[in-house]
Amino acid sequence: MSTYVSLSQTELADVHAKLTELFETLKAQGLKLDLTRGKPAPDQLDLSNALLALPGEGDYRAADGTDTRNYGGLAGLPELRAIFGELLGIPVSNLYAQNNSSLEIMHRLITLAWIHGTVDGERPWGAEESVKFLCPAPGYDRHFAITAEFGIEMIVVPLNPDGPDMAVVKDLVANDPSIKGIWTVPKYANPTGAVYSEEVTRELVSMPTAAPDFRIFWDDAYAVHPLVGDAPSDPDVLGMAAEAGHANRPYVLASTSKITFAGAGVSFFGASTENLAWYGKYTGLTSIGPDKVNQLRHARFFGDAEGVRAHMRKHRDLIAPKFARVLEILEARLGAAKVASWSEPTGGYFISLDVLDGTAKRTIALAKEAGIALTAAGATFPHGKDPHDSNIRLAPTFPSIDELETAMDGVATCVLLASAEKLMS
Ligand code: PLP
Repeated sequence: MSTYVSLSQTELADVHAKLTELFETLKAQGLKLDLTRGKPAPDQLDLSNALLALPGEGDYRAADGTDTRNYGGLAGLPELRAIFGELLGIPVSNLYAQNNSSLEIMHRLITLAWIHGTVDGERPWGAEESVKFLCPAPGYDRHFAITAEFGIEMIVVPLNPDGPDMAVVKDLVANDPSIKGIWTVPKYANPTGAVYSEEVTRELVSMPTAAPDFRIFWDDAYAVHPLVGDAPSDPDVLGMAAEAGHANRPYVLASTSKITFAGAGVSFFGASTENLAWYGKYTGLTSIGPDKVNQLRHARFFGDAEGVRAHMRKHRDLIAPKFARVLEILEARLGAAKVASWSEPTGGYFISLDVLDGTAKRTIALAKEAGIALTAAGATFPHGKDPHDSNIRLAPTFPSIDELETAMDGVATCVLLASAEKLMS
């Protein structure tokens, strides 16, 4: 097969006619498939079913004797913090264990900065003339939704396989004091699978910034989620920041949402002592402590950090074949036509598919017509606006492998049809 761009208009018309036929057959199947959100599949959730019976009747005391049924313990259970501290490369004293959602902590961190200001800010962010955030993109739609809610201006920064384009980042933050933060997903980024290099990490924590209270939202949601081998260990981001004289710069977030139960896990917040005291002071007003019974349940379930790693190998063995199948189908159906490129992640929950400029929306609309739901076009960019209308986020974990094959074959037909339409126009 020739690449689509090398085809004459007559040849393209022929290809288009064949694809239209294929698309009609696809529609006639009456599919109802969903590739939109990165949710664990039921067999992944089953891996943690033992949690449903833990800690068990009569087992409610933490290692230090704390009665987990009662109020208190804002920082969370030390034994669970020790397990995840080892995995995230954070000292226990700098890591809080909280309730089920790390996204909620991110939202709270911005709310608190907005109302009260940060520990080293000159005034509340809400009293600033303008507040801006850097948004490496393609990125996570829910990050962008939080900053959008506050009216924070979002500046798109290109995301490379080893992290954001640091020349662009350093230039922007050095000169504009209204740039208060950056969203990052340092390991197996959503959706490209990028893994931040140690060099990029060091630059982020040490670069000069015009804002005295610049913050890195270091969202380590996929810290222990490899698709190949074991996950590399995390860089000591807090230690590196302290060494560079910016101890308060990183806010580290993580959770067990994609480890145990997405709706009933434990979240983590890692930060400097000063940041944790600030967070604790205000969080103590809204809660007299997190759900420690759930934390105890998780500590019993894992035992230690190796227990988490072993558990994540089981997840890997369930989902790696799904990712492999998607990549095979993409190559088989789209490789020769050269109308798309895609990421080949070594971990995380997504594949980032780039189609011809100006065809992502059309591809997604065609897929919808055929009963295949894809993440909304533009979702991976601030305000849902993909400047090139080319990025599509694929979430392969939730469907069964049979459903996934049918869906991806259908998506490939839609990509080809949208490309042919575009090149004919
Ligand atoms: N951060 C990233 C990068 C994610 O992809 C997700 C879920 O998809 C979350 C955070 C959600 O985390 P939580 O369930 O802890 O709120």
